[in-house]
Amino acid sequence: AAGPALLQVEEVQAYYGLAHVLQGVSLTVQPGELVALLGRNGAGKTTTVKSIMGLVTVRGGHIRCEGRDFVGLPAESVAQFGVGYVPEDRRMFPGLTVRENFRLAGLGSRLPKAEQQAAIGRALQVFPQLEAHLDRDASRLSGGQQQMVAVGRALICGRKLLLVDEVTQGLAPNIAADMGATLRRIADEGHGVLLVEQNSQMALELADRVYVLDQGVVVHRGDAVALRRDPGWMERYLQL
Ligand code: ATP
Repeated sequence: AAGPALLQVEEVQAYYGLAHVLQGVSLTVQPGELVALLGRNGAGKTTTVKSIMGLVTVRGGHIRCEGRDFVGLPAESVAQFGVGYVPEDRRMFPGLTVRENFRLAGLGSRLPKAEQQAAIGRALQVFPQLEAHLDRDASRLSGGQQQMVAVGRALICGRKLLLVDEVTQGLAPNIAADMGATLRRIADEGHGVLLVEQNSQMALELADRVYVLDQGVVVHRGDAVALRRDPGWMERYLQL
């Protein structure tokens, strides 16, 4: 029998103060899968990712990674369990070089020093373009390079699972497509990737499976292949 899912979100209820934002969201991600989380602005996509990271209040349901329940754990503990997070605004700390960004991510993983170094080496294999910029202030790189740093940092912590929130926002189409292809490769090499993406068309082309959220509930879930064959799906689920 199959073991526990890499990520299993089950009937999660999440709140901002009194606002009941997620009203029973369930989803799974397996190793090797890229799963897209789609939906209109305000549907609850970012809140779902923040719930997994322990950054919003979850008052019901379960969030399990390989069977271990994360509900109530702080973000540092989630990160130490091998979950990498690329937040919506890429947030480069001004004055920190690319190398320092990666070292901080390594420290956050709490892995032994040699494993931190190995993880940094792997991030640089994924983004070899960053080698030439290791000693530059990351906040002064191009938007696409900053996103490489953000994903690289997440990979250093995220040995198993990556949560990626709107990583292509504001990027030129060819740069966005490159980042999409890189995330697909990361999944093909064994990570689970949960991708929140405004560009639904691109997400659909990259994803194995798709969940569509609306007003804090999953209104559709299915194989990306089936949606790719269904020209009316965007009007139906995203009301674009
Ligand atoms: P977007 O694409 O705009 O980021 P989203 O699907 O990620 O949309 P969320 O950001 O998860 O949506 O927001 C879900 C709901 O929660 C929205 O109604 C939003 O107004 C509300 N919300 C988000 N952040 C907060 C907050 N910090 N305090 C109160 N309400 C919030």
